[in-house]
Amino acid sequence: MVRIAKERMDILKEEAHRAAINGDMELSHRCTTLHHRIAMRYNLRKDRESRIRTCRSCGGFLMPGNTASVRIRRGLPATRCNRCGRRHVFGRAEYQDGRNRPGKGTRHHNRENVNTEAPQ
Ligand SMILES: [Zn+2]
Repeated sequence: MVRIAKERMDILKEEAHRAAINGDMELSHRCTTLHHRIAMRYNLRKDRESRIRTCRSCGGFLMPGNTASVRIRRGLPATRCNRCGRRHVFGRAEYQDGRNRPGKGTRHHNRENVNTEAPQ
């Protein structure tokens, strides 16, 4: 069952992306919601790409430039959902390793250690 659930999560992830590119945002949001529900039902981790593409509040698909806007905040990309307004900073596990993680008080110093590259 877990194998089938993982297969379906992969399919839904791709379908959400394809629907977003084709402009069908309702289908895209629906796919991310189903993706999230399968992950919860079978206690599976979502991969990194799925985590940073799903709004944690409304479950919408976050597509920068379309359904999400991205600003750099303290050296990390801060994503804002254009559907519900929820702001996400995917910084702890998704973008950084433990060594050069920016936190409180790193705003005005240690700038050379901050990795501002967005993931691909
Ligand atoms: Zn949202």
